[in-house]
Amino acid sequence: MKELDNPIYVTQPSLPELDEFIPYLQQIWDNKILTNNGPFHKQLEKELAEFLGVPYISLFANGTLALVTALQVLQVTGEVITTPYSFVATTHSLWWNNIKPVFVDIEKEFCNLDPEKIEAAITPKTTAILPVHVYGNPCKIERIQDIADIYGLKVIYDAAHCFGVNHKGQGICNFGDLSILSFHATKVFNTMEGGAIVCHDEATKKRIDFLKNFGFAGEIKVMAPGINSKMNELQAAMGILQLKHHKENVEKRKTIVEQYQLKLKGIKGVSFLSQPSDTTSNYAYFPIFINEAEYGISRNDLYERLKQNNIYGRRYFYPLISEFPIYKGLESANPEKLRIAQQTAEQVICLPLYPNLSLETVCKICQLIDLNAKSLYTNEKH
Ligand SMILES: *Cc1c(COP(=O)(O)O)cnc(C)c1O
Repeated sequence: MKELDNPIYVTQPSLPELDEFIPYLQQIWDNKILTNNGPFHKQLEKELAEFLGVPYISLFANGTLALVTALQVLQVTGEVITTPYSFVATTHSLWWNNIKPVFVDIEKEFCNLDPEKIEAAITPKTTAILPVHVYGNPCKIERIQDIADIYGLKVIYDAAHCFGVNHKGQGICNFGDLSILSFHATKVFNTMEGGAIVCHDEATKKRIDFLKNFGFAGEIKVMAPGINSKMNELQAAMGILQLKHHKENVEKRKTIVEQYQLKLKGIKGVSFLSQPSDTTSNYAYFPIFINEAEYGISRNDLYERLKQNNIYGRRYFYPLISEFPIYKGLESANPEKLRIAQQTAEQVICLPLYPNLSLETVCKICQLIDLNAKSLYTNEKH
C-alpha cells in the first residue's frame, strides 16, 4: 500500500550503495585521471568484453554518440534501411550523418524490422541496414545478413535494449558489422549516461577509438573529422561497480516478469511477447499489447486508468519515429506501408519494471489491468 502512495514509473535506475562507490572516487581523486582512456575505462572495456562474450568494445559517453560514430566508422552514406518502431535516437543518428532514413515495417511476433520487406526498399543509394533488437529480442539475424551479403550492405545493430543477451550461445553483439549499446540511466545496465560500440577486429576498434577522440591517431596526427564522445572515469567506475550487481538485478527482474505473466495471462485482449528460442533474456522491458475489441477499452484508456492510480507506464514506441514532423514527409514514412508498426504502436504499453519494484505493487498493477477484478482498495486484506 505504501508504495502506491508514490508514483510508480516505468523504470527506476539501479544504483549500488553509495559506500561502495566512495573508494572508486578516492582513486580518481588520487590519480587525477578523469578521462581519455584512464585506468577504470580500460578495466571496464576488458570486463565488458568478457562478460558480453565479444572480441572488442569501445566505450562511449552515450548510446546516441556511439550510433552516430558507428555510421562514420563504416563510412555509411546515401540511404539506410531502418525501423520506425524504436527510440528516436536510432533515426536521428542517420540524420546527423546526412543519411536518408528509409523506414521498413516490422514483423508482428517480436516487433523487429521485417526482413521480408527489406529488399523492396533497396535502391542504388542504399549502403546499410540499421535494425534494432527491440525489447532485447534478436532480429532475424541470418535472414538480414543474407540480404546484406547479396546487396553488399553493412549491418549496424542498435542493441541498446539487449545488454547481456545471448543468442545461439553467443553474445548478441557479435552479429552484424557493428553493434551499439546504451548504458543510459533507464537501461538494464547503466553508467548514468554511457554507451559502446562492439566490433570484430582490432583495426576497426582502433579507428573507432580515433573517431571518438577528435580523430587523433597520434599526438599530431588527425585521421578524420572525429568527435568527442569519450566515456569519463566516473562513468567507467560506475560501470565496473554496476557489473558486479548485474546478475542479481536480472534475477530480480525475472521474478517480476514471471509475476506479471502469471497474473495477466488470463485477461482477454491483453497479450505479451513470447520468449524467442535459443535466446536468453535480460528482462529489460515488459510490454503488453491491448486489443481494444477484446479487452473492452483502448490502450490509451488503460494508460490513463493506470496514471490515475499513480502508475506511469510508457507507450514504447508510440508515436512511431516516422510520425514525427521531421521524418513524416519522407516517402517511406507513409503509414500505409507501415501497417504492423502503426498497429503495434497503438496497442503497446510497457509496464513498470525494475529490480526494486515490489511484487505487491506488481499485483496491484495487474488488478488495475484486470477490468473485472474487484476494486483494488476493497481487496486490501491479503
Ligand atoms: C536508449 C536508446 C538509445 C539511445 O541511447 P542513449 O544512451 O540514451 O543516447 C538508442 N536506441 C535505442 C533503441 C534506445 O533504447
